[in-house]
Amino acid sequence: MYHNSSTVVYLDGEFVKADAALTGLYSQTLHYGYGAFEGIRSYRTEQGARVFKAKEHYERLRKSCQLLKIPFHRSVEELTDATYAVLERNGLADAYVRPLVYCGPNMALGKPTSVSLLIAAWDWGAYLGEQLLRLKTSSYCRPHPRSTHIEAKACGHYINSILATTEAKDAGYDEALLLDGDGFLAEGPGANLFFEKDGVLYTPQLGNILPGITRATVLHLAYQAGMEVREGLFSPEALHQADSAFYCGTAAEVVGIASVDDKPFRKSWDASLGKVLQKKYAVLVRRVVAEPSLVD
Ligand code: PMP
Repeated sequence: MYHNSSTVVYLDGEFVKADAALTGLYSQTLHYGYGAFEGIRSYRTEQGARVFKAKEHYERLRKSCQLLKIPFHRSVEELTDATYAVLERNGLADAYVRPLVYCGPNMALGKPTSVSLLIAAWDWGAYLGEQLLRLKTSSYCRPHPRSTHIEAKACGHYINSILATTEAKDAGYDEALLLDGDGFLAEGPGANLFFEKDGVLYTPQLGNILPGITRATVLHLAYQAGMEVREGLFSPEALHQADSAFYCGTAAEVVGIASVDDKPFRKSWDASLGKVLQKKYAVLVRRVVAEPSLVD
C-alpha cells in the first residue's frame, strides 16, 4: 500500500528506492519514540500536483525538532522542493506526504548521535467527506503539556492516539474524543475539534492540543465568511449541548460528527456551519473554480 518495487523516497538528501533503504535496529526513535514527523497532503489541481500549506507543515516540523532538541537544519525550501520531486518521481498528485525526522543508534536517554530525514509519499484518493463520525470520549487524556511539548508533532505522542483510537474502535465507535489533563475538551487522536452552538463556532484553545494547520485554515475560512468563533477551555457538557460538531485535519479534511457517546447532534450536518466550511475547505485545497454557491 505504501510502496512497491519502483517507489522512490528522499533519504538524507538523496533519492533512493524505498525497497533498498535501510535503517538500523538501535535507533532512539524505534526504541523510545524520539522523533518528529509531519502529515501533508498533495492535491491534483488544474496546475498539477499542489502541496497544501507546505511552508506551514515544514515550519512546524522544524519547530517540533527544536522543541524536542533534535538537531535538524534543513530549510523549508529544501524540504518543499524535495517533496515536489518525490511526488514527481513517483507519478503522484493526490497523495499523502510523510516527512519523518528520526535518530540514529543510541540506547542512552541523551542527545541523538545522528539525525536522518525521510520524505515518503503514497497515493491518497480523493476524499468525499460523506461519512459522519460516531465518537466515544476516551478514558485516556491527551499528554499533559508539563510532561512534554504537546505542540510538537512527536512520534511518541502517538502512543496516546493509538490507545485512544483502539479503545474507541474496539467499543464499536468510529473515533475517539480526548479530553485534556484537566477534563476540558481537547482533540481527536489525529484531528482538531470544532462545535457549533446557536450560530457560534467554538474550538479548544491552543495549549493542550496540536496546533493544527487545518484548524488554522478553518479559522481563517470562518472569519472570512463572517462567522463568529470562540477559542477557549470548554467542558464536555458544552459539546453535549452543541448543535453540531466536526473534526478537521490534514488527512480527514473537515468531517462531520454524528454523535458523541451515542448522543446525536440535533442539527443535521447538511444544515451546519461545519458543512459550509467543509465545502470551502475542499475548494481551497484544490483551488478549482468553484460554483458560486460554494464560495458565497
Ligand atoms: N491533532 C492531532 C493529535 C493530530 O495528529 C493532527 C494531525 N496532524 C491534528 C490535530 C490536525 O493537524 P493538521 O491539521 O496540521 O493535520
